[in-house]
Amino acid sequence: MAKPGYRVFDTTVGEIRRMSPHFVRVTFRSDDLRDVGWDGPDQRIKVVLPLATTGFGDVPTEADWYSAWRALPDDRRNPIRTYTIRDARPEAGELDVDFVAHGDGGPASRWIAEARPGDRMLIVAPDATSDEESGGWEWRPGTARTLLIAGDETAVPAACAILEQLPADACGAVFLEVPEADDALELRAPAGVDVRWLPRGDTNTGYGARLVEAVTAWADAWAPAVPTEAAAVADAPIAVGGLPALTDEDLVWEVPDAADDGGLYAWLAGEASAITTLRRHLVRGLGVDRRRVAFMGYWKLGRAEG
Ligand SMILES: Cc1cc2nc3c(=O)[nH]c(=O)nc-3n(C[C@H](O)[C@H](O)[C@H](O)COP(=O)(O)OP(=O)(O)OC[C@H]3O[C@@H](n4cnc5c(N)ncnc54)[C@H](O)[C@@H]3O)c2cc1C
Repeated sequence: MAKPGYRVFDTTVGEIRRMSPHFVRVTFRSDDLRDVGWDGPDQRIKVVLPLATTGFGDVPTEADWYSAWRALPDDRRNPIRTYTIRDARPEAGELDVDFVAHGDGGPASRWIAEARPGDRMLIVAPDATSDEESGGWEWRPGTARTLLIAGDETAVPAACAILEQLPADACGAVFLEVPEADDALELRAPAGVDVRWLPRGDTNTGYGARLVEAVTAWADAWAPAVPTEAAAVADAPIAVGGLPALTDEDLVWEVPDAADDGGLYAWLAGEASAITTLRRHLVRGLGVDRRRVAFMGYWKLGRAEG
């Protein structure tokens, strides 16, 4: 049997750095991480959170870890949450993850509030020693000439990693909605990519409101240049791949294959309602070919991930 593209890595918290009021960078370390893979800039991983009762005692580590984990009784099944590789240095056995600190409402945000160097953490991540592709990444702009990246704070780690890996002549716009102005992180972007941080601050606008407003305005201004001849295929099914599906019934996730005819490529990620609104505006409102829009509405206000 082929070695799976993902496996469980046994790691230790090395360093914890508060980057801003709501971003906390954790560097995980272990010899095991020398085999960690990073197949695409928005590479997703799973963090397995310890249970107060059993710690990591029941976490399956075999090749088919996911089925074994699903089969565990509720009280012995460790919570698993999805994150993004912010940076990886396999030669040093290190992996960085930027966690959004959003209070004590979920097991991951509780964990980050209490994490200390030396804590153990299990991470499901691509296995570089496998011949299988992880499939856990979606940034596929192909030959697109204009890039649109939009997301909330949960998408900032992926957006930053994508920007760092863009060619110097890339062009486009990036909109990142964050809780407050000080959450605008330092990042490296090509000169032709306009990055705009959108702090919610105390404007009392809900999640995604500033993002929807800014991206809609940008898209409306840009729309005349969008080729619409392919819009007739707007309802053709698109393959969905990657890690085992999240169980949230409100998940909206659709990713196209690489765009191969220039034009626009949009990557939208974050809270499901805002991302759905944006996707609708681009595809239905402006006639953008849906094969140009990767949209990942992967968390929903008021619902836990798993
Ligand atoms: C592909 C992918 C990549 C991701 N990458 C990252 C990443 O790099 N960094 C990151 O921080 N998150 C990332 N996320 C989002 C993260 O998985 C969710 O925010 C997750 O719900 C956090 O788990 P939790 O245990 O803290 O909260 P849950 O138990 O899932 O939810 C508890 C409550 O908190 C709310 N909630 C969840 N997330 C947030 C939030 N960010 N702000 C406010 N309320 C929230 C929920 O609506 C719910 O009411 C990613 C998600 C996906 C699918």
